[in-house]
Parts: sequence; C-alpha cells; structure tokens
Amino acid sequence: MKAIIEEEKCVGCGECLEVCPVDAIELVDEVAQVDDNCTLCGLCVDVCDYEAIGLPEVQTAETDDLESYRGVWVVAEHHDGAVHSVSFELLGAGRKLADKLKVELAAVLIGDQLQEGAKKLIGYGADRVYLAEHPALVPFNDESHANVLTELVKEKKPEILLAGATAMGRSFIPRVAVAVETGLTADCTGLDIGDDGLLYQTRPAFGGNVMATILCPRRRPQMATVRPMVMRKPEFDSRRQGVVETFTPSQKSINSRVKVLETVTQDQETVRITEADIVVTGVRCLQKAENFKIIEELALLLDGAVGATRSVVDEGWMPYSHQVGQTGKTVSPKLYLACGVSGAIQHVVGMQGSEIIVAVNKDPSAPIFDVVNYGVVADLFEFVPALVRKIKEQRS
Ligand SMILES: Cc1cc2nc3c(=O)[nH]c(=O)nc-3n(C[C@H](O)[C@H](O)[C@H](O)COP(=O)(O)OP(=O)(O)OC[C@H]3O[C@@H](n4cnc5c(N)ncnc54)[C@H](O)[C@@H]3O)c2cc1C
Repeated sequence: MKAIIEEEKCVGCGECLEVCPVDAIELVDEVAQVDDNCTLCGLCVDVCDYEAIGLPEVQTAETDDLESYRGVWVVAEHHDGAVHSVSFELLGAGRKLADKLKVELAAVLIGDQLQEGAKKLIGYGADRVYLAEHPALVPFNDESHANVLTELVKEKKPEILLAGATAMGRSFIPRVAVAVETGLTADCTGLDIGDDGLLYQTRPAFGGNVMATILCPRRRPQMATVRPMVMRKPEFDSRRQGVVETFTPSQKSINSRVKVLETVTQDQETVRITEADIVVTGVRCLQKAENFKIIEELALLLDGAVGATRSVVDEGWMPYSHQVGQTGKTVSPKLYLACGVSGAIQHVVGMQGSEIIVAVNKDPSAPIFDVVNYGVVADLFEFVPALVRKIKEQRS
C-alpha cells in the first residue's frame, strides 16, 4: 500500500519530494509518483497545498467489544525473584495513565515464589498484582511466559499493557501482541492519554530523525515497551495497600517446547553505564584511541562511567557496551558530561533523561546545546585536562 496521488490536482510543485523521509516520491512529467518504498507516514499529505495526495483506507478488524477492556497493566520483570527497576519505572508512568483514565493500575508477575515482589510492586504504585506462579515457570522461558500472559490478557482484558524493552521483554512481549492480535510500539520514550482516551505512544522513527506518536485505536490492549531508565522511578511507599490476585495458568500454557539450558548474566560494564550516577561521554573528535584516556581519567576521578557515541564504537576505541543512544544504552544519571558530543537525535534519545546535562563543544551552534543545563563553548583538549587539574587541586 502507498500514498495515492490525484494526478489532475497535482501541480508538480515538488513539496512532497522534499519532505518524504524515504525518497519514495519522484516527479514524472511534472506529476508526483509514489513508489513501493512508501511507509504511509503521511508527511506528503500534510504539505500538499493542493490536496492532491491521500492515504488509502486501512481496513483492520476491530477488537470485539472495545469498551469491555479496562485498566492499565505493567508486566513486571524479575530475576530470581528480584523485581527489575524498569518495572517500578513503568509503574510510575502507568500510575499517571491510570489516574487520567480513572482506572486501576495492575502489575503482572509470572514465575514462582514471588510474594515479596508483589508487595514491592504495590509499594511502587500497583493497585493489584496478578500473580501467576508455577515451578515450571522458572527459569524464564519466553514461550511459556508469553502463553501465560496471553491467557491472562484474554481473561481480564486490560486496555493498556506496558513492559520493559529489555532482553526479556523483547523476547516475549511481541509474541503476546501477535497472539491477541494487537499492535505493539517498541522503545517508547513518551506515553500519554489523549483527549480521545487513547494511549499516545511516542518513539523515535526513521532512524531517529523524527519523533512519531503512534496510536492503536481499533485493537486492544494498546501495547508498548519502554527501555530501562527512560521513565522516572516513583518513591516507594511501604504503607500502600493493594490486592494480590492469584492466577492459575492452564497446563497448556505452562508447557513449552523450549528448554533453558543456561542463563548467562549481563557483562558488568553494561550494568555500570546504566546505573552510574555520573557518565562522561567522549566522541570521535578525540582523533585517536589514546586521546580517549582524557575522558577515562575524568570519569575515574568523578567515580563515573565512560560513555561513547556510536562513532567512537564504530572506530573500535570503546566496546559497544559503552554506547549511549538509540542503538546503544539509555542512561539517566544525576550528571551527564558530554565532551564534544554533537547532539544528534540518535544520541540524545539515550541521555535526555539525565538530571543535569553539561556539554562541552567548540561549536556554539552544536545541537547538543539545545538539551543542556550548562553549556561550555571550548576546545575539549584544553577544557577536559583543565577540569581534571582543577578537581585534583581542590581535593589535595
Ligand atoms: C539508525 C541510527 C542509529 C544511531 N544510533 C546511535 C546511537 O545509539 N548513539 C550515538 O551516539 N549515535 C548514533 N547514531 C549516529 C548519530 O547520528 C551521530 O552520527 C553520532 O551520534 C555523532 O557522533 P559524534 O557526536 O561523535 O560525532 P560528530 O557528528 O562527528 O560530531 C563531532 C562534534 O565534536 C565537536 N568537536 C570537534 N572537535 C572538538 C574539540 N576539539 N573540542 C570540542 N568539540 C569538538 C564538533 O563541533 C561536533 O559537534 C545513529 C545513527 C543512525 C542513522
């Protein structure tokens, strides 16, 4: 399917060619023609002053009885019973959505022996926790966990379902979306309820060049994943009361063709960069791998972690586990110190949640200065060593 041109209205002005992010339009004899690369994004429709472009009507079957779907759910992730912090972050986001819709916020825990985790989820904002326990649901297995969640969704009918865009979430949440025949927006950076009561799911699109807001108006639940550290974790309140509801999955759901042979833990550096209070990031303009040492020295002095832009990783100066951005890690430290970072959107989406952002760049018009709390226009070969000296002086 592609955008439709009404040839008699087209004046061949070329405005649509300019905005098409996938170069799917060309002028043939002064008339716009659309090829199969069209993604139906609609940007050409918006810019056409002559109303010569339209989008085809997309026919999807509506979920039966949309109105019967109620409530916001967070699928809680845990490792050996310890709930992953992304689940608490999602409860913070889910609470706002549920309050706007005036519905219940529930969490789902799948595994075994998870009572403690359920209490924590209530303390972080869940009104109800659905607890699906069975010894065969440990260790995590994407097939059986997807089956159990699907069974639960079909029975309880939530209108919104959120999950972490983690290795675990990515492996089983799409299966659930397919099984219940609904849409899934991965890696959202913003979630809100519109005036129409729908979930507005915002995420970078077209390689990060635009922020797209995606709706799922005809199917339920509306499903979205969010990476760790994108949303703020709410305060824990040990006095909060909630209901823990046991759900007994069918044997058919628990059965799996997959046998988990070994679970391998994530490398420590990855954990370090996503959990550090301070991240100091360097870029390719440092010219060679040896020069990256000034960034490492500053990070060490501040007891922080070293971040890198993709260009640094592409050069092989730092391992991928240090990459911050759309195709790297999302970080939200107390202090993000960007040394020479240009501010490309693909990098910014991975660090814009930081509490304080300080950037050094010799170009005063670098886009990074649009997202900083403090900006320093300077040559980093002068600034970073001077800062290191100053910190050492003050500590001596
Ligand atoms: C699909 C896709 C995904 C991507 N994912 C990521 C991602 O996850 N993470 C990521 O980082 N990028 C990602 N990118 C790449 C991104 O678009 C940028 O190319 C990259 O972030 C730019 O890196 P940079 O700031 O190191 O380099 P450059 O764009 O080369 O910018 C260098 C900057 O350094 C400044 N500078 C130069 N010399 C000095 C000096 N001596 N002192 C001070 N400042 C100086 C310059 O003014 C300039 O602003 C992705 C791109 C695509 C298309």
